[in-house]
Amino acid sequence: MKDTTNCEKFRIALKPYVGQTLTTARIKEIVWEQFKDMPTGSNVPSEHAGTTNETQCSCAGTSRRIFEKVRHGEFLVLRYPD
Ligand SMILES: [Zn+2]
Repeated sequence: MKDTTNCEKFRIALKPYVGQTLTTARIKEIVWEQFKDMPTGSNVPSEHAGTTNETQCSCAGTSRRIFEKVRHGEFLVLRYPD
């Protein structure tokens, strides 16, 4: 069985929250509720948003990104494009 990527884990965990704006802390809680073994360094919501930085996920800034940054520390959960 193929390993679930960090990005997929975010997508799975946040699916019930599409359309909601959540704080970084709340997003991390939601991810850890479902994926208890996620390392702290991997549970970084901003890496899956529209911002750009060196450690971002390949989804960042594309239509497949998981979050839209609303303001510092708050992210809107986007619907995955069909
Ligand atoms: Zn991602």
